[in-house]
Amino acid sequence: MDWCVSMPKIELHAHLNGSIRDSTLLELARELGEKGAIIFSDVEHVILKSDRALNEVFKMFDLIHVITTDHKTVARITKEVIEDFAADNVVYLELRTTPKRNDSKAMSKRSYVEAVLEGIRSVNSVEVDLSGELKTGAFAHSHSVDGLCNGIGSKKIYVRLLLSIDRRETAEAAMETVELAMELKDFGVVGIDLCGNPNVGQWLTFLPALEFAKKQGLPITLHCGEVPNPVEIHAMLDFLPKRIGHACCLEDEDWKLLKRLEIPVEICLTSNIKTETIASADVHHFADLYKSNHPLILCTDDCGVFSTSLSAEYALASSAFGLGKREMFQLAQKAIDFIFASERVKEDLKATFASAHTKLN
Ligand code: 5GP
Repeated sequence: MDWCVSMPKIELHAHLNGSIRDSTLLELARELGEKGAIIFSDVEHVILKSDRALNEVFKMFDLIHVITTDHKTVARITKEVIEDFAADNVVYLELRTTPKRNDSKAMSKRSYVEAVLEGIRSVNSVEVDLSGELKTGAFAHSHSVDGLCNGIGSKKIYVRLLLSIDRRETAEAAMETVELAMELKDFGVVGIDLCGNPNVGQWLTFLPALEFAKKQGLPITLHCGEVPNPVEIHAMLDFLPKRIGHACCLEDEDWKLLKRLEIPVEICLTSNIKTETIASADVHHFADLYKSNHPLILCTDDCGVFSTSLSAEYALASSAFGLGKREMFQLAQKAIDFIFASERVKEDLKATFASAHTKLN
């Protein structure tokens, strides 16, 4: 559906390393194979496999991390991911990533995030707004900011970062990530995410860091309800995060609470279906939340790992739930209310959508 590509879109749930291009992953794996660091033939079929259950997905991430974790590669992946989202007419991207310490590469959590920021600054195929600090790329200066989309990719993209806490991390490491996010607030970091294998780690381990973040005014989004865990799901909703991701395994009582609290849900259809968390699109909770007018945002999760794009998610929702062009446009536009960036950015995005609305009709 071409119109899903041409309309402006907002992406709020995209993991950096999950959004890596297959071609880049294969190239990097081949290089490591040639250096003898890994056996390429062993990993090639793992990379090319397209359907993975949830636990297999986390094994895939471990592999990706072995292949990608040095500063130069982190910067390269970031640049490519932003270019891909911009080419898909994403006008605002909240990219999330887990700051990683890797002593063998002299990498600290801070230097990891600096490499990500370096990658963002190196984008030159589109104008990038990172924290109000406007970076004009080689092809961008001739375009007016009016009408950010032309049907062949956005001309300007706002990029903001969420720093993720991985559920394998300790309470101290989680706190370090929050402190780093505070330090980098003026450099494009707008919030905190809790992610990682939902069968690992305890909510109470991360709670002090998350409470600290909240006290400092950092917005928080939580991966919530990817597996049945009623105690944790309830505690997460009680925490009042600004948004949650997935919300697949809630019980009736939690749905009621979620709706009463009006916590926006980041919906990742393809991810949920491919990991078999939800059997198929037609039984996805999107339908109920949409009918109830509950705040929700369509997102990709990991467009590399799940071979998807935000346009493909819009096309899937449109066909699975019988929603037309106008409803899908309104859904994309509504996401402006749930971004973690400033009011100034919200106002700019509203103008972008208003202008696109005129052109699309
Ligand atoms: P990174 O943080 O390394 O840039 O992105 C990959 C990481 O994001 C994974 O290691 C994992 O912690 C997290 N992640 C990606 N997809 C999912 C998902 O569907 N659910 C959860 N809980 N975590 C995810």
